[in-house]
Amino acid sequence: MSSAPSSAALGANDFPAYRGRMEYVCLGCGQRFGVDRLLYTCPSCGDVFLLQDTEFGRLKETPGAAWREIFDARAATKRDALRGIFRFYELTAPVVEPGDIVWLGEGNTPIVESSPALRAQLGGQRMAFKNDGQNPSASFKDRGMACAFSFLRSLMREKQMKSLLAVCASTGDTSAAAALYASYVGGGISSVVILPQGKVTPQQLAQPLGSGATVLEVPGVFDDCMKVVEYLADNYDVALLNSKNAWRILGQESYAFEVAQWADWDLSGLCVFVPIGNAGNITAIMSGFLKLCELGIIARPPRIFGVQSHHADPVYRYYAQEPGARTFAPVTVQASVAQAAMIGSPVSFPRVRHFAEKIEKLAGPGSFQVVQVSEQEIIEGMLLANRHGHISCTQGGECMAGLIKARELGLIDKDETAVLDATAHMLKFIGFQDMYFSDAFPPEFGITPNKELANAPEAVISAEEKAALSPADFTVKTAENIVKRLGLARK
Ligand SMILES: *Cc1c(COP(=O)(O)O)cnc(C)c1O
Ligand SMILES: [Zn+2]
Repeated sequence: MSSAPSSAALGANDFPAYRGRMEYVCLGCGQRFGVDRLLYTCPSCGDVFLLQDTEFGRLKETPGAAWREIFDARAATKRDALRGIFRFYELTAPVVEPGDIVWLGEGNTPIVESSPALRAQLGGQRMAFKNDGQNPSASFKDRGMACAFSFLRSLMREKQMKSLLAVCASTGDTSAAAALYASYVGGGISSVVILPQGKVTPQQLAQPLGSGATVLEVPGVFDDCMKVVEYLADNYDVALLNSKNAWRILGQESYAFEVAQWADWDLSGLCVFVPIGNAGNITAIMSGFLKLCELGIIARPPRIFGVQSHHADPVYRYYAQEPGARTFAPVTVQASVAQAAMIGSPVSFPRVRHFAEKIEKLAGPGSFQVVQVSEQEIIEGMLLANRHGHISCTQGGECMAGLIKARELGLIDKDETAVLDATAHMLKFIGFQDMYFSDAFPPEFGITPNKELANAPEAVISAEEKAALSPADFTVKTAENIVKRLGLARK
């Protein structure tokens, strides 16, 4: 077997020699299972899994500083297999062979510092958005999907499987990502997505349709779809692509690795804000930072702030109770502009509890917190960010609102740097901006638009006027109308 990696021995373009040995570990009863098959929940107790590399200890033979050099060098790689989430191959899924790795441009998304005006408006708060909407299907879900599909490819090759049906329930973005990767990979993998009717945006619906996936609609909300998909995965021969699938969590850890690398591996004074829906993303981000700590690549994890809407806040409610006397209860969700996080019974809640405890043990009280924000604050958080040159979706707006709330509650100092997860591209959720600008929110959202923020196109000349004018006169008349509207001074 290969020896521990060292920066000197490993060029940026060499595929890592290290291979781990991965097992599913049940978070409930601790039983372990081999990864030669697809498992989502424990056959003994029904709890969720994490994936663990039982060889991980060997990675500690390489000092943290050497790992930092390896990952910094690899950032310049010319190998597609190492360009995305597998830049951090040894920490991710080191059982997948290079030929099985799928890379569609995911990962390595920009972290853009707050515009100066926004920073001033937030009382000097240091802040940056990580634009995960710049992934190929325009959300962070691509990170997990790249890992899940790379593993599916290796499994199908090893087991000589000819075909595989991949299913997922979705609030919109999981299905867009699953359909994208399935249509690219082909090779007998086909994708079926199950969506809550009318609860995904037109843009999100267009994505799996365009990728050629089978799209099935169910009346209700995400939680209803998830139960159907779980029934299918428990009883029929299908591959589940929801974040119950622990391979997706591994891929999503790359977000944490990238934030750490952006901070030049020094996370003191850093606070990471993440919207919580099904809780897979915040699970992965905490797990990722903890791995970096374990290998001495970073000295301490950043502080983690989960953010939830008052219309879908089961994780907030759990942590609002006194430590030691907390009980978890699902909630019935209400309409939310943070629709991708509108989940009342998060599948990954046990994982959150598991990792939050570890973060708190390492970094002390206050290192993991959940804040609650209103629908009004979420949409206005998004508008505030985007009016300052950012490209935040409503869930990114939820992070923005969460940061403002954390400031109000005295949980964060302006000299700490907040990294906000813009989990998708703004254009996926642009209908909510339209509803705000045109004052068209149904009452159940509880949002009253501030008229001063409304923005709408203005006509400068009518079609009838145009018809009555020669082309040359039309140009002049239109231009003169614009001069009046803007009050332009002649040169
Ligand atoms: C899925 C999703 C979320 C919620 O992430 P979880 O892992 O379910 O907590 C937030 N924002 C966007 C844009 C998403 O697609
Ligand atoms: Zn179990």
